[in-house]
Amino acid sequence: MSNEEAAEANRSDEQWRSELSPERYQVLRRAATEPAWSGEYVHNHADGTYRCAGCGTVLFDSTTKFESGSGWPSFYEPATAAAVELRADTSHGMTRTEVVCRACGGHLGHVFDDGPAPTGQRYCINSLALDFKEN
Ligand code: FE
Repeated sequence: MSNEEAAEANRSDEQWRSELSPERYQVLRRAATEPAWSGEYVHNHADGTYRCAGCGTVLFDSTTKFESGSGWPSFYEPATAAAVELRADTSHGMTRTEVVCRACGGHLGHVFDDGPAPTGQRYCINSLALDFKEN
């Protein structure tokens, strides 16, 4: 982890609250889920890179994005395995795998094993946790 990333990870809750929009704060720091089909990237098909809206780390690439029909941006793999951390999540009476930005600890979404080839994974990610930059 670079010094810059370490600084991101060490931000206080108060700092996150002041730097993020209320909507992004609820998703990234409180693990909220944006309503299905509400996110700005659900139907984004442009070529580019999706970065963490909290810290700017590159998380996903448009080449791995697919139409899942779920209402959230869906990817079959992260840009690099090291960019995300997977955690067991038993909230809301379900057993799921939470996807977190490794650099800043921001909640991104969940990953399921019903995705397409080549990985069979479906990273179901909140638009509010992402910042898209077109190539
Ligand atoms: Fe981050």
